[in-house]
Amino acid sequence: MNLNGGIVSVIGAGTMGNGIAHVFAQAGFKVTIVDVSLAQLDRAVINITKNLDRQFAKGTITEEQKKATLANISIQSNMIEGVQHAELVVEAATENTTLKLEIFEQLDKYAPKEAILATNTSSISITKIAAVTGRASKVIGMHFMNPVPVMKLVEIINGYATKKEVTETIVELSKKLGKVPCVVNDYPGFIANRILMPMINEAIYSLYEGVAGVEEIDTVMKLGMAHPMGPLQLADFIGLDVCHAILKVLHDGFGNPKYAPCPLLVNMVTAGKLGVKSGEGFYKYEAGSKELVVSERFK
Ligand code: NAD
Repeated sequence: MNLNGGIVSVIGAGTMGNGIAHVFAQAGFKVTIVDVSLAQLDRAVINITKNLDRQFAKGTITEEQKKATLANISIQSNMIEGVQHAELVVEAATENTTLKLEIFEQLDKYAPKEAILATNTSSISITKIAAVTGRASKVIGMHFMNPVPVMKLVEIINGYATKKEVTETIVELSKKLGKVPCVVNDYPGFIANRILMPMINEAIYSLYEGVAGVEEIDTVMKLGMAHPMGPLQLADFIGLDVCHAILKVLHDGFGNPKYAPCPLLVNMVTAGKLGVKSGEGFYKYEAGSKELVVSERFK
């Protein structure tokens, strides 16, 4: 299977959607970003431009490459128009099962019959998503890491019915994007989040039980385990709502209490303290400041 025309649609213009659009456009694909929110679409173009400026300033791309990448990107708030010519759709909308099932029903209706439908879900079953379409063999997980232009890994997840040729196409495509693909099977959390989220949850439990403070927990993991970022800072960066949603999928999927989200995480999400995107989580984030300041609540 080949993406001859190089036409890709990305559903969702949030943190991941704009990064995914960026890497496809930089590799020469024509990308349409589709979102229900016009404000998010505008923000995505601003973010991509800023990230390209950063790459230019570092000398990793030329002015021409920056221009060509931006010229490859268009935005669309209408799903039908956004996917009607797609050879590949990569869905990166909010991590919510009902929403993703609705989106895939629409994609199946409006994207060309031959198109591959991929999802960037962090944890929702690919098999379940595929089951609402009439093309389960062409549905696959294409799980990029955040920030997409920087992180090398693409976790590729085979649903129960995914065809071998579809997996091969997505593996080759990931290589064309300069990424390293890793193929896994469809069980809750796949590999990345099945291992990462219990660690983050345990770090939150350690804080909740008063074993140590925010800085101590993150410092132990950074210096002791050579992690580039402590688990609480990483949770803020991923989004505490996203961490909570993934833990719920693991908890429901395995029925094992070890995956139950820590009550402190649940409270923070309910209170709207979602980490970087809301300005506060375990740390406080002020525009323009790179300093890592622990949130008042945990001092
Ligand atoms: P986000 O909240 O930043 O963005 C989600 C976007 O989806 C928003 O712009 C929203 O307007 C849009 N959206 C909602 N409903 C829509 C619809 N019906 N049609 C089109 N767009 C719609 O979320 P995110 O962090 O970018 O996560 C997106 C996906 O990527 C999720 O499945 C998440 O689990 C996964 N993911 C996230 C990370 C991370 O670090 N944030 C990493 C890997 C994978």
